[in-house]
Amino acid sequence: MIKAPRGTRDLLPPDTALWNFAESAVRDVMRAYNFQEIRTPIFESTELFARGVGEDTDIVSKEMFTWEDRGRAESDKGQSLTLRPENTAGTVRAYIEHKLWDRGLNKLFYIGPQFRRERPQKGRYRQFYQIGAEVIGPASAGSESPARDAEVLEMLATLLDRLRISGWTLELNSVGCAHDRAAFNQALRKALEPVVGSMCADCQRRAITNPLRVFDCKVPADQPIIETLPRISQFLDEPCRTHFEAVKEILIKVGVPFTLNDRLVRGLDYYTRTAFEFTHGALGAQNAILGGGRYDGLSEALGGPAAPGIGFAIGEDRLVMSLQESASAESVLKRPDVYVAALGAGMNSEAARLARELRRHDIVADLGDETFRLKKSFEAATKAGAKYILIVGENEVKADTFALKNLATGEQISVPRADLPQKVLPQKVQE
Ligand code: AMP
Repeated sequence: MIKAPRGTRDLLPPDTALWNFAESAVRDVMRAYNFQEIRTPIFESTELFARGVGEDTDIVSKEMFTWEDRGRAESDKGQSLTLRPENTAGTVRAYIEHKLWDRGLNKLFYIGPQFRRERPQKGRYRQFYQIGAEVIGPASAGSESPARDAEVLEMLATLLDRLRISGWTLELNSVGCAHDRAAFNQALRKALEPVVGSMCADCQRRAITNPLRVFDCKVPADQPIIETLPRISQFLDEPCRTHFEAVKEILIKVGVPFTLNDRLVRGLDYYTRTAFEFTHGALGAQNAILGGGRYDGLSEALGGPAAPGIGFAIGEDRLVMSLQESASAESVLKRPDVYVAALGAGMNSEAARLARELRRHDIVADLGDETFRLKKSFEAATKAGAKYILIVGENEVKADTFALKNLATGEQISVPRADLPQKVLPQKVQE
């Protein structure tokens, strides 16, 4: 038997209804904040991620699905391509390529699959889905303002509340700018020197390549050492400090709760200033439901104009897992309102006509087959989870009145054709 590749999975009903529910809430909320959708290619030049995410991040150094194009055309030959591991780099590439600033497009969102060769476990897959948004534009358009950071964070709180996901925590930090980080890296290297020998192999590598990443370490034995290291918060320059204070002040004023976490450095190199994560208790070890931050230098790193920005990516797989825990799940999982049972030869067309009428009233109808006996129709209706079964036999058609049975209560009534929509779903018909 051929199975789905390791780390990938089929999303099946009824869960797909939850995915659609989450996505439609996202679209509504994005609309209210004036974000518009962008769809970028699923694969890009490898170089985009090397430059946009950072060569010595885990993502680029060990997790990408990369291949060399085998095309015969000279322009294709030997080109290194990569399945996108995230969507910020692609979005910023598109921003630069299409000069989106000229069209005033500075608030974009995306929904789609991403690919990372990670060790699969609950909440961590090799093909996973992200819902993300980016505010990017010339500083003159306000993209550098702390008001943007706060707007994005407040939007996320609104989205989670709207999905009725409770129990989230917003963890907030500032990772400063390049200039702060140079001083910080130096202090960090110095502090690591005498202790790094007793840390894990990953930390020993990080201490040389990118000491900031030491804060990502989850190895329990390393934690007491990490606790003693200097923090980026001690190295923020005046503008970075003022920016961070302003973000916090707005969040407090608009009533979005947050927790400061000065160990939060995030996995991507391009972050500047505000960095954040929303975590959720019910998710287990992989408890980050979304992450994001400001990336003021990214556009320039990709050869574009100066364009400060801030964005986030929600792990949709994890968002849906939290939804399954929340009260909204039950109301989203749709069952057919009615199962239309054709009984006897020639009844398929009559049943089809009735189902068509009902569906025009937004009623969810499932349809049987005239070869089914009554018992089989009842079994099929019950299996589909239908609320009613509607019997369409020769006598009913002649009388233009049909037997409608409530499968939960067993109550059966005779209903003239014209009254059927109203009887099956009073609230929908009244709307
Ligand atoms: P990142 O792009 O690494 O900042 O991740 C943003 C969010 O995407 C995380 O908070 C997770 O919710 C989600 N995510 C990242 N990697 C995976 C993965 N391999 N499987 C499922 N979700 C993921």
